[in-house]
Amino acid sequence: MTGPGPAPAADGALLTARGLTKHFAVHRGVPGTRSMPGMRGILATRRLARHGFTGRVAAPAVHAVEDVSLTLPAARVTAVVGESGSGKSTLARMLARVIKPTSGEILLGGRPVAASNRGRRAYARQVQLVLQDPFSSLNPVHDVGYHLARPLQVHHLAGNGTSLDETIAGLLERVALTPADQFVHKYPHELSGGQRQRVAIARALAVQPQVLLADEPVSMLDVSIRLGVLNLLSGLREREGLAILYITHDIASARYLADDIVVMYAGQMVESGPARTVTDEPAHPYTQLLLSAAPDPDRAGPPSLAGRGSPPSLVSPPGGCRFHPRCPHAMAVCATSVPPGHQVGTGHVSACWLHASDLAPGQSQPLANHDLTPGEET
Ligand code: SF4
Repeated sequence: MTGPGPAPAADGALLTARGLTKHFAVHRGVPGTRSMPGMRGILATRRLARHGFTGRVAAPAVHAVEDVSLTLPAARVTAVVGESGSGKSTLARMLARVIKPTSGEILLGGRPVAASNRGRRAYARQVQLVLQDPFSSLNPVHDVGYHLARPLQVHHLAGNGTSLDETIAGLLERVALTPADQFVHKYPHELSGGQRQRVAIARALAVQPQVLLADEPVSMLDVSIRLGVLNLLSGLREREGLAILYITHDIASARYLADDIVVMYAGQMVESGPARTVTDEPAHPYTQLLLSAAPDPDRAGPPSLAGRGSPPSLVSPPGGCRFHPRCPHAMAVCATSVPPGHQVGTGHVSACWLHASDLAPGQSQPLANHDLTPGEET
């Protein structure tokens, strides 16, 4: 059960991200400057000068996430889908407040999060992160009981009318590790990958959160046990009303589990909408490409994503639409102007110039020297 916490905002969102952006500074190019955090201060300036650099130096940065806004309502799963390097895990870590956004804001129950220690602690209790690798997220020298008892003790939730052992047994039952006494004294190496991920989820549930951020929770599990963990997350949404963010590179699993899908490419949101609509009627060429690479028993040929080039460098991403070097429909405008989000259906938004009705003839010309046609490989 979710514990007492903030009520949803007026739009029904428990967690809201507005314009989240994250740039990571890159320290490179000048020998010896790697160990100088932030390249700040007089020492950095002197060292740069010794290597012949004078005047202002624009520090390069990885543009990992740009201007992402989304809402996580109660009792819904929102999937964030994209290739490796699309910024989806960075987004999850910003929402978990593990890393600080460069700009943008996060609202819990419609209110900004207090910067005080108390505010951060309250937020950590309401918004829990489940990581991809359950083996590395559990301490190998402690048993399951310790992993579940610790958050209860840290957040002073142990002993509220129920014994610690009963609370731990209840947590194990909620993630279908039963009978609980067969698991409580086991160590991580004595569990299967799926059981370890269930323990990680039980640990997140221990503090009675309202929001669960699940970062690729099944990608390291054997295919045969992924479905069980996805069904567990689905049950938590339905029985306990949790708002769940499901990060994945697998759009097929997002279609199976999620109510809504957000597609990210090179740090930007390119399409969002109801899961069925986005997967049945994808409006953005990148989503169409992702779907063409998803497992499909009816497809005659092999999936085609691997043949379509790779995501760009996020240190110097392409101008205009970041997908234009890989896009078979790229037009002149795509190389120069960032496409705004266009409403293409109820709650369905696609950031692509193909949906613009007011392009000038010169803007809608096929992109010069861009000979990628649909179906052709790079
Ligand atoms: Fe392709 Fe242009 Fe749409 Fe980008 S904006 S996806 S390059 S058509």
